[in-house]
Amino acid sequence: MNYFRPNIQKMAGYTPGEQPQGASKFIKLNTNENPYMCSAKVKAAIGRVCQAGLQKYPDPMATAFRQQACELLKKELPEITPDWILCGNGSDDILTIVTRSYVDSGDVLRFPNPSYILYKSLAEIQGAGVDIVNFQNDWSLGKEFASPKDRLKLAFLANPNSPSGTVIPPAAVEELANALPCPLLVDEAYADFAESNCLSLVAQNEKVLVSRTLSKSFALAGLRFGYLVAQPHVISELVKVKDSYNCDALSIAGATAAIEDQAWFMETRAAILNTRSRLLASLRELGFTCVDSQANFIWCEHSAKSSQQLYLDLKQAGVLVRYMNYPDWGDGLRITAGSDEQIDAFLAILQSLL
Ligand SMILES: *Cc1c(COP(=O)(O)O)cnc(C)c1O
Repeated sequence: MNYFRPNIQKMAGYTPGEQPQGASKFIKLNTNENPYMCSAKVKAAIGRVCQAGLQKYPDPMATAFRQQACELLKKELPEITPDWILCGNGSDDILTIVTRSYVDSGDVLRFPNPSYILYKSLAEIQGAGVDIVNFQNDWSLGKEFASPKDRLKLAFLANPNSPSGTVIPPAAVEELANALPCPLLVDEAYADFAESNCLSLVAQNEKVLVSRTLSKSFALAGLRFGYLVAQPHVISELVKVKDSYNCDALSIAGATAAIEDQAWFMETRAAILNTRSRLLASLRELGFTCVDSQANFIWCEHSAKSSQQLYLDLKQAGVLVRYMNYPDWGDGLRITAGSDEQIDAFLAILQSLL
């Protein structure tokens, strides 16, 4: 007998990028992880928590992190206080909390295509419908992204987008948010690598919610820590939906130390942006069509060789990149800007395969 809700039975489930056991055998450029070791201050802070013991429950609101985040974010959002911030077990947890808060069975969740494929799974878990709006050829979004629709309750926008690495400028996001009849979650998982972000819109419009993660720009994908910035009356509703202790004591301490170490952040960010431009130029020289990226990866397609075949050949040769095939759009390869050594080795192998 199958006792599951029909929408759970029907859904395919989200497939994350490959995380092979013995991953050290691969040059891993498939899930946009940061190639650098996290700040030593993160490890020291986690060590101190271990030393003190883990008998007690953590702070349910991760207030130490929220206070530190205010220091970081007040340049762009002077109004910010800790009650503008909600912490999560990775930003995927934030996306789950937000979806569960706004989207009921039979409602509609809107997001662009091609984009982060988790959004569809989140809608399906709710038993909700999806309204998928294709990007235009120049990776902008048409007015239809903000158009009214029956039972439309929430819109997601990854900005910078994955897999393209492109950015919808904040002024255009503001226009979309003002026109939308529902809240807009701007998923800023890659904003630390971009030239602009939408944080300041949160103060102007209660319908704008901005999520961030420490997984990519702070090299802490294994720690699981993300957060949301929204107006306090929005945060206080979302708090009702989260698990009581959704962030553990180790991740709260590690994440707080991470965002405090701005010297580490500036240095590794500069290195990744440098590698990204080198990777972009090399791929173009090798005959790839690439999109200009403001994230830590590049979306590309070769003029002669199929993306799927290249993905398989690269895997055979010990390099993992992400092959994506989007309905109603097409396929391509998403390649993470890893370390210079990783990219040099990758480019040498790639050249031999073309
Ligand atoms: C990586 C990623 C996330 C999720 O990151 P977490 O590791 O759960 O914090 C969210 N959105 C996009 C677009 C991502 O690429």
